[in-house]
Amino acid sequence: MGIFEHVEFSNHEQVIVCSNADSGLKSIIAIHDTTLGPAAGGCRLYPYPDTDSAMTDVLRLSKAMTYKNALAGLPLGGGKSVIICDPSQKTPALLAAFARFVRGLGGTYWTAEDINIGPADAEILAGYSQYVFGLTHGGVGSGDPSPFTAGGCLEGMRAALQHVFGTDTLTGRHFAIQGVGNVGYALAKLIAAGGGKLTVADPSPARIARVQRDFGVRVVPVEDIYSVKCDVFAPCAMGGTINSHTIPHLDTKIVCGVANNQLGAPRDGADLLARNITYAPDYVVNAGGMHNASADIFGRYDVDDIWRRIRGIRDITSRLLDEAAREERPTSEIADALAREIIARGQERKRAKSGTRTETPPI
Ligand code: NAD
Repeated sequence: MGIFEHVEFSNHEQVIVCSNADSGLKSIIAIHDTTLGPAAGGCRLYPYPDTDSAMTDVLRLSKAMTYKNALAGLPLGGGKSVIICDPSQKTPALLAAFARFVRGLGGTYWTAEDINIGPADAEILAGYSQYVFGLTHGGVGSGDPSPFTAGGCLEGMRAALQHVFGTDTLTGRHFAIQGVGNVGYALAKLIAAGGGKLTVADPSPARIARVQRDFGVRVVPVEDIYSVKCDVFAPCAMGGTINSHTIPHLDTKIVCGVANNQLGAPRDGADLLARNITYAPDYVVNAGGMHNASADIFGRYDVDDIWRRIRGIRDITSRLLDEAAREERPTSEIADALAREIIARGQERKRAKSGTRTETPPI
């Protein structure tokens, strides 16, 4: 199947297939849309079983970044990259080869951490390309995004609680968290501090031990987390976990978590609505880390301003939930439509600036 016929192809501006025989690099960079600014989004290293599954992932993730950055009000477009590799085979040479491709794009795409690309890897990338964000820079850069992502998700949860229960209090509410890694742990900490009750699942014994020790949570097996009776179900592990198999088991009023691309398919948004479950769209409530990390792109780190913008996640979530309820449509559809509207306005501004309603040829 050709790229233009790919089911996840959505008028992406550029899809670049990168390979380097010496290091074994096999990578795809997808630049979805640069209307609002340079494409920004992390690099995921994953042992994809084949090229098509890597392509599917990068096309979906890059589009979600466009929508996330648009609804976050950031002057950034959407892009993402994947490296097809077993994490045990990751080498500095492979990362260097990837970073050189990013450098070659001249700032059209900025990369950062994602699954299996951690802070130490990002530092290596930054040694070969200036277009890397979310760095620690020996304490100067934006650093670990997880507390910011968790803080933004809590704002989204409060908006959803207010919408469903008429009060945003956490006390006495029950939260089920799927995945207590970097963000899931930080979120559990905020919920515990707010008086919420927690049930969690994670295949990692070390991560379970940490969250049990620190917050005394209830733990269930990974496959049982969907059917936990709770007020908020928070997907904080991999994407695609809200799907036709899991939705019938959910016993929650709200789905609100940080995992990217939580819905397995677009129709899952409608299925949640049909079950009267309020879905706070993933890319809206997980933008806190992006608010923080993107400071590296703009070259200005003002933590108060970052938190002010993260608190705004509550307003945008409320607006989407209200609009969706009024129109009796899935929140996921309303969010996508609003993101497209913001981008269309950006395109209009660009056209107006260039003084013409049609594309002018370069001179
Ligand atoms: P992480 O790797 O630190 O944590 C993920 C956790 O999920 C791990 O503890 C893992 O053991 C667990 N897990 C894996 N499979 C599971 C399963 N079937 N059931 C329950 N738990 C499972 O990752 P993270 O940085 O915490 O990010 C979590 C998710 O949020 C990812 O999808 C990521 O793309 C997304 N996200 C993260 C950030 C950020 O700031 N880190 C920002 C936006 C979105």
